[in-house]
Amino acid sequence: MNPVDIIDLCSFPFVKNKVHKLPYAFVKRRVVLPVDEKGGKLILAIGDLLDLEAIEEVRCITGMEVEELLVERGALEEAIEKCYHQKEDEASHVIAQLQLEKETIFDVDEASYDLLERETASPVIRMLNVILIEAIQQGASDIHFEPMEQGLGVRYRIDGVLHMRHAPTKEYLQPLTTRIKVMASLDIAESRLPQDGRMKLKMGGRQIDFRVSTVPVAFGERIVLRILDKSNVLLGLGKLGMPQHVFEEFNRQIHFSEGIVLVTGPTGSGKTTTLYSALAELNSAEINIMTIEDPIEYKLQGMAQIGVNPKIQLNFATGLRHILRQDPDVIMVGEIRDKETGDISIQASLTGHLVLSTLHTNDAPSALTRLVDMGAEPYLLSSSVLAVLAQRLVRCICPHCKIAYEPTERELSELQLMPEDLQNGVLFRGSGCAHCFDSGYKGRHGIYELMVMTSSVKRQLLKSADATALHKEATQEGMTSLRQSGAQLARLGVTTSAEVFRATRG
Ligand SMILES: [Zn+2]
Repeated sequence: MNPVDIIDLCSFPFVKNKVHKLPYAFVKRRVVLPVDEKGGKLILAIGDLLDLEAIEEVRCITGMEVEELLVERGALEEAIEKCYHQKEDEASHVIAQLQLEKETIFDVDEASYDLLERETASPVIRMLNVILIEAIQQGASDIHFEPMEQGLGVRYRIDGVLHMRHAPTKEYLQPLTTRIKVMASLDIAESRLPQDGRMKLKMGGRQIDFRVSTVPVAFGERIVLRILDKSNVLLGLGKLGMPQHVFEEFNRQIHFSEGIVLVTGPTGSGKTTTLYSALAELNSAEINIMTIEDPIEYKLQGMAQIGVNPKIQLNFATGLRHILRQDPDVIMVGEIRDKETGDISIQASLTGHLVLSTLHTNDAPSALTRLVDMGAEPYLLSSSVLAVLAQRLVRCICPHCKIAYEPTERELSELQLMPEDLQNGVLFRGSGCAHCFDSGYKGRHGIYELMVMTSSVKRQLLKSADATALHKEATQEGMTSLRQSGAQLARLGVTTSAEVFRATRG
């Protein structure tokens, strides 16, 4: 029997009404999920048909005969989490309800627990839990708690854009702030200085890490929780959505034993994920991989990761010097933002190390221009840099409300496309629906511009590090620009022309 897909499971209309016959703790432990009722029998999704004990227990609890349906265990665990998670509007509902109840607000000190298991906690804990669960389920990357005169604004960043979600009243401001600070092991007595911390929570089978940052503002402390959901990190170059030719070439470049490979783009363009994927690709017991990062976003197996710490003068440059005394093969430097870090990186790459790093520039050729402006010698760059990858993330069109339309001439020319490039002469966009909170977008996809340091690009660099000249030379050598890469995704209906323009302007 083919394992049933998770989406199939959740689309059973019966699921949401039936799940509550079985308590979450039981379902989670036994990995079973009631999905339907037929002829007085309960249809039970189960990961292991031989788990007779679980089947017997379900029979006892529900008082019904049980018919088993084999489902792949991972999918089932995910479905359990989804089905037991509050319905979409429940976070607002719970918050409204809690405000009506006016219960005493108090705090409980607990470091790590399963978000879904707490049913009898205090109102503040319940409110925070539903916010966290909702944000995670909606795929948010950050949760913002913003104190305002009349209360608190809670916004989620989803696919790179903030959405206002909740507005609890003033009385919740202090308790919620305290609760978050307790969970992140921050100093609750200190509210005049910014603080940084972390917290770990479990949700179903997953562990989710949060990076917590507080900053005092006019009406209290502004708190941002960055969600570091490990299940969201696609570690693997093949999973980044690179076009085949970019994937093959980039993969080839990172396999050289010495040289520098740079990834460039603004904050939030997915550079870290690309570098981590490259490291995961190279990771093996035979080589020593060391990183210096600000901060360490994900802990990677088998690699030594160092976080910069300005308080003890541990910055990228000093960290890099220490790493070089540890006999590394591959070094990842979070970012090259000063001459010293640039110089040491170049030296390291010329003495038998592969160095991976990032820069903040708009496109691939400008990375060389930036390094030269920073004081790097063009002849050293030409012999050390292997390739520069520029990237952006564009939002994908929501598949539930995707519609075709005829693009204007101007739109096409901006995308550098001809009418005959389009299938049936149309492009696509999302009209907005409940699945995408009326934004028309769901999920993100990378677009890439890979500049390989061919001999003619090197010659141009030695002549002048002018970005336009480098761009022209690289294009002749087969580089596809970010705009062209985006245009291909628009043509295929993955994203919109507006997203491509937004991501590649300037
Ligand atoms: Zn939609």
